[in-house]
Amino acid sequence: MIMEIKKYKDRVLRKKCQEVKEITPEILKIIDGMSETIKKERGVGLAAPQVGVSKRMIVINLDFMKSGVFEVINPKIIRKSKEEEIGEEGCLSFPNVFLEIKRSKEVEVIGLDRYGRKFEMKAEGILARIFQHEIDHLDGILFFDRLPFIKRLKFKIFAKKK
Ligand code: ZN
Repeated sequence: MIMEIKKYKDRVLRKKCQEVKEITPEILKIIDGMSETIKKERGVGLAAPQVGVSKRMIVINLDFMKSGVFEVINPKIIRKSKEEEIGEEGCLSFPNVFLEIKRSKEVEVIGLDRYGRKFEMKAEGILARIFQHEIDHLDGILFFDRLPFIKRLKFKIFAKKK
């Protein structure tokens, strides 16, 4: 099921998401829909609020993940490196917008897979960046919130005109 992507003016993007308490058929239906949607949109990451669902779930779609779309329920960053780097990010909720965002270089993430199995992983580079961007979505934080003050102000003015 292809889902509609909520764009940046939608207030659902600012809501803090609830943890998934139980992986029900309904939850799996949403996560399957998110996986289909991210493939169709050729995105690298998608968080549940971007399809209007305020639950802590993300999907990641990178070519090197040969297993296909990586689904994570209740993802949480348990450690991030002090070392940061700046990289370009896009967001499916902001079509054609690319911003230079500073993020930790490495993160350690815990979460559940669709069968409720716990896992822990270390990520660096692009994968670390995606985890940080998507987990921010679950807390109602959007990528331009991470811009330095003046750039953020300029971006807000630009977005208002659209
Ligand atoms: Zn995003």
